[in-house]
Amino acid sequence: MKNRVGNMKCLTIIGARPQFVKAAVVSRAFARDGRVEEVIVHTGQHYDGNMSDIFFEEMSIPKPKYNLGVCGLPHGAMTGRMMEQIESVMLDERPEMVLVYGDTDSTLAGALAARKLNLRLAHVEAGLRSFNMRMPEEVNRILTDRISDILFCPTQTAINNLKREGFDHIDATVVRTGDVMYDAARFYAASACRPKAELPEKFVLCTLHRAENTDDPAILKSIVSALETVAREITAVVLPLHPRTKGKLDALGYDFSSSPIRFIEPVGYFEMIWLLQNCSLVMTDSGGVQKEAFFFQRPCVTLRNETEWVELVEGGYNRLAGTSETSILTSVQEMMVSSLDYSVPLYGDGAAGDFIVSELMR
Ligand code: UDP
Repeated sequence: MKNRVGNMKCLTIIGARPQFVKAAVVSRAFARDGRVEEVIVHTGQHYDGNMSDIFFEEMSIPKPKYNLGVCGLPHGAMTGRMMEQIESVMLDERPEMVLVYGDTDSTLAGALAARKLNLRLAHVEAGLRSFNMRMPEEVNRILTDRISDILFCPTQTAINNLKREGFDHIDATVVRTGDVMYDAARFYAASACRPKAELPEKFVLCTLHRAENTDDPAILKSIVSALETVAREITAVVLPLHPRTKGKLDALGYDFSSSPIRFIEPVGYFEMIWLLQNCSLVMTDSGGVQKEAFFFQRPCVTLRNETEWVELVEGGYNRLAGTSETSILTSVQEMMVSSLDYSVPLYGDGAAGDFIVSELMR
């Protein structure tokens, strides 16, 4: 049965910071199109004001109709509780379409609940692979892709990954859309806003939060030690600190007061854009921030051994430094003096959101 407001009701499941940025783009495209009633479910995975609310405010994301408040649990409990509650929302709302984003536990919980109720399921940012099954994100991506009806792929690499997994013989629609994060970067670039915290004039921007880096004390210490050396010997390091990383550093007894690293609270998207526009280099283990370094034409050193965004590495925009101090320092020194041509359209034309909505309405 169709709902009264639009031609189609779409249930959007989000819960973590990167999903707010991505969903903002598609929500705006839904509003422009006018034929879809979007009902947003926030799982509660990220709940701090500066990890959640600020994104809804800045990017005018419609207020979630449901907030499930599931957070701070181990993966199994988190995914299970989310699934149970999302299923109950689905039974009440009876949407024609369910939309999930990226690779978090909220993504997988939404996807599994939709599949079991045989609701039409679309996955934005499909087909990405790190080929590292120890990453919870990799497991979430693979499973979500396999049960989705429509797979929206940001890059040709993503399409190729799915082909290798046999998607030519699976009853699903695979489309290359471009990257919604590029849409967001273009649309909001003019809203960039200097963070309130005191900042050095010249700095490297760093983000650090992947479980594989934060949960192993030896790896975390090695990365932080490299960042300290960069800050002392090369250039200032500004690091908006993710709550997970803060918790791990606190547990190790890290002395923030004597650190040469300029730690600041997590910032909103507009402040993040300002930091990207004004830094000299990006160091990160984030998926999204690797691409944003490219969007804002800054060289990137990735604090991981592999990446889903291989085209950035192949093009020389991104260097995979791993987590050893020596390799991080060498990569920073080399990338600091790189001169790169950023005019290559790796992530589409900035209209991925509209394209996704038109595909959903077909
Ligand atoms: N981001 C932000 N403030 C911060 C750190 C990140 O707005 O303090 C944004 C970042 O610009 C990107 C998104 O959050 O748009 C990426 O999220 P995250 O790094 O948490 O996740 P990942 O991309 O690794 O899944």
